[in-house]
Amino acid sequence: MKTRLVDKTFVFGGKNLDDIYKEIQEVYFSNNYPWIIGYSGGKDSTATLQLVWEALERVPRIKLNKPIYVLSSDTLVEIPKVVNYVDKSIELINKAAKEKGVPIQAIKVVPEISDTFWVNLIGRGYPAPTNEFRWCTDRLKIDPTNKFVIETANKYGEVIVVLGVRKAESINRERTINEHKIEDSRLSRHTTLPGAFIYAPIEDWSVDEVWDYLINFESPWGGNNRELFEMYKQANAGECPVIVELKEGSESQSCGNSRFGCWICTVVKNEKSLSALIESGETWLKPLQEFRKLLVETQDPEKKHIYRDYKRRDGNIYFLKHKEKKGIKELGRGPYKFKYRKIFLEKLLLAEKRIREESGYDINLISQDELIEIQRIWKLEEGDWENSVHKIYEKVYRKSLDIPKEDIGIFSAEDRALIEEIAKEEDIDPKLVVKLLNTYQYSRNLSRKSSLLKKLERILNEEWRTEEEILNEVSR
Ligand code: SF4
Repeated sequence: MKTRLVDKTFVFGGKNLDDIYKEIQEVYFSNNYPWIIGYSGGKDSTATLQLVWEALERVPRIKLNKPIYVLSSDTLVEIPKVVNYVDKSIELINKAAKEKGVPIQAIKVVPEISDTFWVNLIGRGYPAPTNEFRWCTDRLKIDPTNKFVIETANKYGEVIVVLGVRKAESINRERTINEHKIEDSRLSRHTTLPGAFIYAPIEDWSVDEVWDYLINFESPWGGNNRELFEMYKQANAGECPVIVELKEGSESQSCGNSRFGCWICTVVKNEKSLSALIESGETWLKPLQEFRKLLVETQDPEKKHIYRDYKRRDGNIYFLKHKEKKGIKELGRGPYKFKYRKIFLEKLLLAEKRIREESGYDINLISQDELIEIQRIWKLEEGDWENSVHKIYEKVYRKSLDIPKEDIGIFSAEDRALIEEIAKEEDIDPKLVVKLLNTYQYSRNLSRKSSLLKKLERILNEEWRTEEEILNEVSR
């Protein structure tokens, strides 16, 4: 361990604690811009918040006249144990800040409903994320935090984002920190957000120093750093950091490798923290592991054709280029087939039910708002006029879902059955009829008739041949 005791003063990252507090105070008073401290509940962000808190508690309260936001981002697919820990911490931080009169306010941001993991995967059929198609990091992590940073910067002119990033984490991290440093300043420019600057008080600390600090100095908001240490030990974990400062192509992309990332993450080949938590006795988390395995299975190249549609979401098809080069015509795959999305929803709700029964906690794996949004998308895009979300929920929980059934669409399950029957007689895809009717219904009030006609024309121009018909034609 690098930490040394010097005249009863701890030294971290080559500086003694008093000097670190002084530096934080200097940066705080060097301008009027508010601070946003990225807080994931992990060791680095906890140490950073604790340092800032301690530094500012040493200043007369009257001088503390700019706000400090402690920003925590919940992807809504975090490991429930971690969510509980962070939620409890946020409560403690806000309570202690009020009691001690420090201008600190802890806030949690979540993805927009239309951007959540389940709305995209189950609702729209986005395939489980991979390194090549990682649609989740921006939507779940970067956008919600960036939105808060931008709004705060717009309100106050500029903003300082305080992060628990450390050069020792990786060479990439060190390069990013160094690259954007402002000369003769402790601040760096934010790589993507104008009006935002980065301050990293523990940038020169080692991991041992972070733990030394946390174990030797009590949390000023009444948190339990030993509990945090135990959680890391139990989960054999790192954490998914608050990644507001990194640019595309850098480590913001590697969030999936963080062991306290989303429990569902299929970007990492071997998830570690969930397994480690289960092995250490948290067996109630098993349904999460099983559900994740189900999604991993859909990524098997040999099985993609089973789970995924032969058309893209825009209704068109494409052939795999690398296969075409070898003279093979193989259709590229689009979203998950509707049939499997319904199965995923049922299995997810079953996992939720089991977790509730086994843990005794009232844990939501998917929210009511997400269920409403999924039902809306299914009705609109899949012609799901029979309200499948309700049916699936009732099947799993044996009670009705408390969300409106008929707030969208005038068509019913009977209408759908009738269309299926007529379409079969006429040898056309019933989905084409459903899509035309849905589009007409939602667009008929458009002021310009030509817009409606264009929409209908676009639908007619989508690929409406079956997969078999296409393959027969290309093989002729
Ligand atoms: S942890 Fe995995 S699933 Fe979650 S945002 Fe990062 S890459 Fe996506």
